[in-house]
Amino acid sequence: MADTINKVCVIGAGVMGAGIAAQVANAGVPVLLLDIVPKDGGDRDAVAKGAVAKMLKTEPAPFMSPAAAKLVETGNIEDHLDKVAECDWIVEAVVERLDIKQALYAKLETLKRPGTAVSSNTSTIPLGHLVEGRSEQFKNDFLITHFFNPPRYMRLIEIVTSAHTDAGVAAKVEQFIDHRMGKRIVRAKDTPGFIANRIGTYWLAVAINAAMDQGLTVEEADQIGGRPMGVPKTGIFGLIDLVGIDLMPLLAKSLSSTLPEGDAYFDTIRPLPLVDKMIADGFTGRKGKGGFYRLDRKPDGTKAKQAIDLKTGEYRAEKKPERLPGRAEKDLAALVATPGKVGDYAWAILGPVLSYAAGLVGEAADDIVAIDDAMKLGYNWKFGPFELIDRMGPGKLAERLRAEGKPVPALLETAGDRPFYRVVDGKRQYLTLGGDYADVVRADGVLLLEDIKLRSEPLLKNGSASAWDVGDGVVAFEFTGKMNALDEQVLSLLQKTIALVKSQYKALVIYNEGSNFSAGANLGLAMFAVNIAAWGEVDKLVVAGQQAYKALKYAPFPVVAAPAGMALGGGCEILLHADAIQAHAESY
Ligand code: NAD
Repeated sequence: MADTINKVCVIGAGVMGAGIAAQVANAGVPVLLLDIVPKDGGDRDAVAKGAVAKMLKTEPAPFMSPAAAKLVETGNIEDHLDKVAECDWIVEAVVERLDIKQALYAKLETLKRPGTAVSSNTSTIPLGHLVEGRSEQFKNDFLITHFFNPPRYMRLIEIVTSAHTDAGVAAKVEQFIDHRMGKRIVRAKDTPGFIANRIGTYWLAVAINAAMDQGLTVEEADQIGGRPMGVPKTGIFGLIDLVGIDLMPLLAKSLSSTLPEGDAYFDTIRPLPLVDKMIADGFTGRKGKGGFYRLDRKPDGTKAKQAIDLKTGEYRAEKKPERLPGRAEKDLAALVATPGKVGDYAWAILGPVLSYAAGLVGEAADDIVAIDDAMKLGYNWKFGPFELIDRMGPGKLAERLRAEGKPVPALLETAGDRPFYRVVDGKRQYLTLGGDYADVVRADGVLLLEDIKLRSEPLLKNGSASAWDVGDGVVAFEFTGKMNALDEQVLSLLQKTIALVKSQYKALVIYNEGSNFSAGANLGLAMFAVNIAAWGEVDKLVVAGQQAYKALKYAPFPVVAAPAGMALGGGCEILLHADAIQAHAESY
């Protein structure tokens, strides 16, 4: 068995397969992309070729460069399936039909090398069903790798293995997905919808039903159910517009045909005539004529944002709701306790959704950490369900469920008044199913500043930056201001840090865990100086920048800059003055 993956085959060149192939190519690895032969008798590779051509025009771009696209070789499953023998990993991303997937595996079994991993991108079909009738060897080589859409940009991948899956085969695929494709792996159990879509679909259904029952506008629902809960700023209806309203009935259908009897999801299923009509009329969200929100283009060229009236189905001008009262924006317990529609709606979402998540520990995932990670990476929630429970208070949540005669999940009873996460001796720990705490373990080779901060104090710190001892004689310098912008304080602390490393340490890493490395110089400050004609201040900032960069460049120790996200202006200049740059692939 080869221990590295030098060539990949992706079968199925639809939305997911094409995107997965592009991400393999982005990693610099050749990939064979196969699909069916079209019935019209033209070019036999037209489907896969068409998928690549389409991706070259798609925004946001699936390929990181035109050169990456050249690493994709296209073909069809009738003429080129034997080429899987050249591949070290075969990803199946064909339509979600058990019979089609099984028939394909039967062919692959005779063509692939033993030890070559085969993984399915299925969203709903249990692993056990997929490999029915296959040989021991095939079962040893098989796993589920569930990517999220779009594969280049979504960090989450859920991986499911079976008792048959060979640990070495799985490790080889996981290593490639983690190190080369840049994904965060969450291990899920072989249950319908795995973790993120199971909870995510339930959450959306609960939130839509409650908004309709309580007579809220879509703007009100998105305000209450969005930011205060750490949900991306699209909110709930905006998110459905983004992923496509037509996906909702499909997800509902596939989940309801596979979920175990008695699952709380079944209580959310009800006729939604408005949604059916929107789909039938082509109002499928951003990709269609509009969704719960739309941009109305007036004849004079101006645009106005509109929202749908959930009662009448008519569009009207968007109405921004009033600000949430008191601390409701920031404090989850205050949000839920707010009298009237704000608290009622927040509770109508959080009560059932957090209970549902608590009930899935042990069933869909081994522990709460996997569930929190899946929701943060797959649905871009700022906090996972158990982090939300901690923010609300596990005791308070259980108390209110009990007071309303609702079932209290066993894990919540186990927690009692204890939090789901705690920090002991500088280590983050989580509550296990058994009621004990265990350390949150990072993957091999992962060191996070977030963890260092739990167990130590900064070496140096001011209002815009700090420096940390990360071990092995290395100091990490991070920007801490808004948008990680650079100002005089960043530059002066950088000078102090350089002096400190020179006298007591071996190397400097410039790094942070913000969504963007740095937005560049703090232009607000510079503009202020310009407005009052304080030219001396502007000069001082430019000179301080130049001196700090020069000190970095000529430092008598190695300086490594490790950016991710945007590194604009001054942020980019910092990178250019480092000895080496270890950039995340998504750095701009
Ligand atoms: P899609 O309909 O966009 O693409 C499916 C492709 O499979 C089509 O190009 C079709 O021609 C091809 N195909 C059908 N039969 C084939 C065969 N026998 N051999 C080779 N190709 C064949 O579907 P998709 O959304 O890309 O979904 C693919 C898989 O990924 C499904 O299992 C789905 O459940 C899963 N998935 C989808 C998403 C998503 O957001 N769309 C997310 C995660 C997982």
